Amino acid sequence: MNDVAAGTKKLSLLVPMYNESSVIPIFFETVFNVLENIAYDVEFVCVNDGSRDNTLELLKEYSAKDSRIKIVSFSRNFGKEPAMTAALDFATGDALIPIDADLQDPPELIHEMIAKWEEGYDVVYAKRSSRETDGVLKRNTARWFYSLFNRMSDTDIPANVGDYRLMDRKVVDVIRQLPEKDRFMKGLFCWPGFKDTTVEFKRPLRAEGETKFNMWKLWNFAISGIASFSTMPIRVGIYLGLLISAASFIYALFIVSKTILFGVDVPGYASIMVVVLFLGGIQMFFLGLMGEYIGRIYKEVKNRPLYVVAETVNFGA
Ligand code: UDP
Ligand code: MG
Repeated sequence: MNDVAAGTKKLSLLVPMYNESSVIPIFFETVFNVLENIAYDVEFVCVNDGSRDNTLELLKEYSAKDSRIKIVSFSRNFGKEPAMTAALDFATGDALIPIDADLQDPPELIHEMIAKWEEGYDVVYAKRSSRETDGVLKRNTARWFYSLFNRMSDTDIPANVGDYRLMDRKVVDVIRQLPEKDRFMKGLFCWPGFKDTTVEFKRPLRAEGETKFNMWKLWNFAISGIASFSTMPIRVGIYLGLLISAASFIYALFIVSKTILFGVDVPGYASIMVVVLFLGGIQMFFLGLMGEYIGRIYKEVKNRPLYVVAETVNFGA
């Protein structure tokens, strides 16, 4: 992948890395093999997301030998979404491809994606043809999540597509203008639109090391994704409130008429308890929901930077 003529187009690979020292050697070896003889300039924007192992030292060894390997190193762990955001900020390519360091996003696909890009597509999704490598639980919850998300939000995200995709520079320029602090990248990546297409692949298991996302983290990630792309949940509160008010009104008419016609009837503990508990539960639920959105507003208003860069390597002067 050397000896590229001047003026050729540039490809940026965006690689977030958190404690990935065990995969770094295979990652570079595999990607370099795949990209051998490619007719593009290539840069690797590796974001060290506050790794606690020797990811940074290893990256530095590689970047000292090869100036196309660039490093943005965070001052601490900020999470994959901020790492992705930083990579978008620092990358200079004409086409950008976020790719996981663990080789779960097969690099061989890059050629197919570029071919589509050259055909004129601005976004090329890499879609998993199957989720065999995931457990039953993850497979089903993922399916529910995509269908729920797309029903609730105006921005549709394609099912079974991770961050692995190719984006044209013009798409990235739009994404970089989105100012929100709460960055659900799957959603933000799709927000600009433009002409898209899909290539399919079978997602392999992690090459080395282990996943950084457990079920609890994924659950919170899903809630956060829906809350940042839809206000539908709050609106459900309005409808539910109207429905309950209407029901209460009818029930009130019933009780009042009954009292007028048949006199005072004291027993009623059960019905009162049921109504009080039911309403109390619903009110708490929606109070929590409102809190979720207010928390989000608070986070945006504070306007803190998304990440703190401790050092960069190979980005020139
Ligand atoms: N990652 C990161 N910061 C984090 C967690 C993960 O940069 O706080 C990176 C990680 O190094 C990897 C990618 O995000 O390159 C995907 O992580 P992982 O493979 O653990 O997730 P999974 O594939 O299981 O969803
Ligand atoms: Mg992975």
